[in-house]
Amino acid sequence: MFKALRIFILLFILTAVALDAWRTKTQSVEWKYTLPVNIYLINGDDSPVAAAYMHTLTVEDFKPIATFMRDEAVRYGRASSASIEIRLGGKIDARPPAPPSNGSVLGVITWSLKMRWWAWRNTDTVGPGPQVKMFLLYFDPAQSKVLAHSTGLQKGLIGRVNVFAASSMTKQNNVIIAHEFLHTLGATDKYDSATNLPLFPDGYAIPDLDPLLPQRFAEIMAGRTPLSTTEAETPATLEDALIGTKTAQEINWL
Ligand SMILES: [Zn+2]
Repeated sequence: MFKALRIFILLFILTAVALDAWRTKTQSVEWKYTLPVNIYLINGDDSPVAAAYMHTLTVEDFKPIATFMRDEAVRYGRASSASIEIRLGGKIDARPPAPPSNGSVLGVITWSLKMRWWAWRNTDTVGPGPQVKMFLLYFDPAQSKVLAHSTGLQKGLIGRVNVFAASSMTKQNNVIIAHEFLHTLGATDKYDSATNLPLFPDGYAIPDLDPLLPQRFAEIMAGRTPLSTTEAETPATLEDALIGTKTAQEINWL
């Protein structure tokens, strides 16, 4: 009897969690209202460099992400309210759980639940309706040459982004943050995971450009601008990135 009751309660909670995730997921891309995107700053390596850099950041440093979304919404014939509002949520001393390195399905599911629990414990949600939470982990570039993969979770509308703590990287960091943010809205990667090269045609900002290469812009979910059949580079700023047709479909703009 008690066992049956326990199973019933567990099933009830799981159904409630699933329903809530489905509702926020659907509402986040309705684009009836401007979608709030809360940004939280975290020292990724406990370095003085990251601490000092984080101290210099203001909401203005992240505004290009909102400008990018608004300009692209308008380019797809959407109202400028089909965009986002960046809010700086402040610094968090705790670090969010790291995604599993082996990428097993069970590991990812467990991590995704832990991550949502962690986000709920460490942040306040101000105002009604769905909102995105982006956790930015800053690393001293002198200590870390390469950063671990960033992640954006559509379930829970949460992003966990690793970025460099350097003022020369502020604009390029916004390219990475915008990419992970769009994952939280259901946009998929558009690069070949073996080569990191953008996939044709969906990973090309202008797939009907003639000649096709080099491209001038990066498709944001490909993350890099194709220069030749073997080379691509991360754009220095979001001004050199566009949202391609497939991505626009995925975030309900088309
Ligand atoms: Zn991605």
